[in-house]
Amino acid sequence: MSADCIVPVVVDAPQHAGLSATLDYQCEQALAPGTLVQVPLGRRSVPGIVWHRRLGDAAEAARLRPLQAALHCLPPLGDAWMQLVEFSAAYYQRSVGEVALSVLPPDLRKLDDLRLAKRLARLRPEPIAAPPALTLPALTEAQAAALEQLATLRATARQPTLLQGVTGSGKTEVYLRSAARALEAGRQVLVLVPEINLTPQLEARFAERFGGRQMVSLHSALTPARRLRHWLLAHLGQADLVLGTRLAVFASLPRLGLIVVDEEHDPSFKQQEGARYSARDLAVYRGRLEGVPVILGSATPSLESWSHAEQGRYRRLSLAQRIGGGALPVVRLLDMNTVPRPADHVPPALAPPLLQAIEQRIARGEQSLLFLNRRGYAPVLFCGACGWKSGCPHCSAWRVFHKADRTLRCHHCGFGERVPRACPDCGNLDIAPIGRGTERLQEQIAELLPQARVARIDADSTRAKGALQAQLSAVHAGEVDVLVGTQMIAKGHDFRGITLVAAVNPDAALFTSDFRAAERLFALLMQAAGRAGRDAAQAARSEMWIQTWHPRHALYAALRAHDFDAFARDQLDERRAAGLPPFSHLALLRAEARNVEAATTFLREAATLAAQLPGGEAVRVYPPVPPPVSRVAGVERLQMLLESDSRRALQQLLAEWLPMLHTLRGRHRPVQRWAVDVDPLAI
Ligand code: ADP
Ligand code: ZN
Ligand code: ZN
Repeated sequence: MSADCIVPVVVDAPQHAGLSATLDYQCEQALAPGTLVQVPLGRRSVPGIVWHRRLGDAAEAARLRPLQAALHCLPPLGDAWMQLVEFSAAYYQRSVGEVALSVLPPDLRKLDDLRLAKRLARLRPEPIAAPPALTLPALTEAQAAALEQLATLRATARQPTLLQGVTGSGKTEVYLRSAARALEAGRQVLVLVPEINLTPQLEARFAERFGGRQMVSLHSALTPARRLRHWLLAHLGQADLVLGTRLAVFASLPRLGLIVVDEEHDPSFKQQEGARYSARDLAVYRGRLEGVPVILGSATPSLESWSHAEQGRYRRLSLAQRIGGGALPVVRLLDMNTVPRPADHVPPALAPPLLQAIEQRIARGEQSLLFLNRRGYAPVLFCGACGWKSGCPHCSAWRVFHKADRTLRCHHCGFGERVPRACPDCGNLDIAPIGRGTERLQEQIAELLPQARVARIDADSTRAKGALQAQLSAVHAGEVDVLVGTQMIAKGHDFRGITLVAAVNPDAALFTSDFRAAERLFALLMQAAGRAGRDAAQAARSEMWIQTWHPRHALYAALRAHDFDAFARDQLDERRAAGLPPFSHLALLRAEARNVEAATTFLREAATLAAQLPGGEAVRVYPPVPPPVSRVAGVERLQMLLESDSRRALQQLLAEWLPMLHTLRGRHRPVQRWAVDVDPLAI
């Protein structure tokens, strides 16, 4: 056997975590970069990818081992894909091999060349069955202007586009037309959505428009076989349209011509474990890398994207009006300070004026949507005699009372038990729920409005497969008068019969330590408001009610005026004053250990190392602090914030610091896990 060729390979192996070096292997024949291979590593055999360039220090020739197998039948991954992976790994401080292999469909690693060849031979495109739509709606002036700008963009600078427009302003139509152009030019289109639940709706709209084309979805809820199939169709260039959640940003697309990120502000675009990447930010990077236009769409853009647009780094296209002249709902602030307290001092679930407004809706055969972002019956059970509360024994959090199945469940570690009949500490029979979740709200609405048909949609009510679709269908069919739910119902769904939306208790987000809480609340409330008056005929009498103890808060004033820009300016002023993103750049070092001391020592020593690095003065390192829920499943969590005015300075420091942390961790065995989170969503 002649083993003449030497190829660099990336692998994902724990002992190489943090090391971004490629490993050299021998092979009999030259292998194209991007070929999937199987290689020996220690005593194991692991999957790898022949890389397009050598990274780090090459292994010594004496230790060269031969490659074991290669997937010859699969066209190699492209150069742009490898560059995207390399950038992601460097930026989010993971190894190239880890990122590269974790974003491929899991089944791909399990197949050998022969079985994959069979799979490929059986792979038949499944074009969309519907005939292509022949009559398209005439574009509104705003849509036509936006599309014209997008067309000129393509010819000139490859600037990302922020498409800002309220719900129902015709953003999706702009996506569809842009996609049509890309498809006609023989290119593939990638559409990213924040949540799996939102894919069917958008898929249906694309299917209706692009009959005869091949469309696939990519998200984590697909069966492994399907995910592989869809990924292969994209990789082979057979799929014209790829619609997916954040992981789809890494889809291999040889003919990519357009990237759309719908609801670009949504926190779900940030991966929260492993390589904690932002699919939105990577989409922008990928667009630049491949010279492909990127459209970021939202009614409430992230403050990062919005300020990029303000500074001219992104092109902003606005769709200011709802299609068909549909009015936006009137926003009514219900000052809870003025609501008379009942004898027991417990404020009612709904203040009387809101209750009356809902009754009116029911009388007219219209629907109402009540939004409460807390599931379960009550967030905590309490014993008035001894002060016992339903804490979780494993976490620094309360266990939530779920009345439907009579359990106390921890939403952090999942620990659940039957609700005790009496106080576990003193035997008092009179233990009471405190506060209100969606389950309790549903119960109270049913009592207050006995004639109403009340339904609830949240993570608990939709656990069974198909449950969500069934519940949504009931709402669409008019079988529900009042719909209670969490943020699950605030997003995306196109309800036609809803003329009243109410936020039952939104204030909490105004006063948390999370600096993005207000931004998220505003987006959620705007989105919830967007559920009302989707039908132009009813738009005029559509209302959004906000029950609040702080009716003069600037956030609510902006919401009332439907003025996102005013809100954004206000928030950005605060961020600028506080030195928070986008005016600074952040990273978190998180550590988990059985005890707080171990985690603290590790982080303190890590901070000392950072301070000694050249350029360390450009990065501020804050003392370790516990996150809001510090103990989960018996493990103590601690985190340390790094902040810099310069993204580059922070990146440079992290790159030099990370290898040191791997060594440091070796001397701190009680530290179970540690990770760096670049651009964390919450601090
Ligand atoms: P968004 O994505 O901003 O929420 P959509 O694109 O879904 O808005 O548009 C809202 C509604 O208006 C949809 O029912 C859509 O079919 C319709 N629509 C969009 N553009 C037009 C148009 N130019 N003429 C008529 N109807 C349109
Ligand atoms: Zn007690
Ligand atoms: Zn717990």
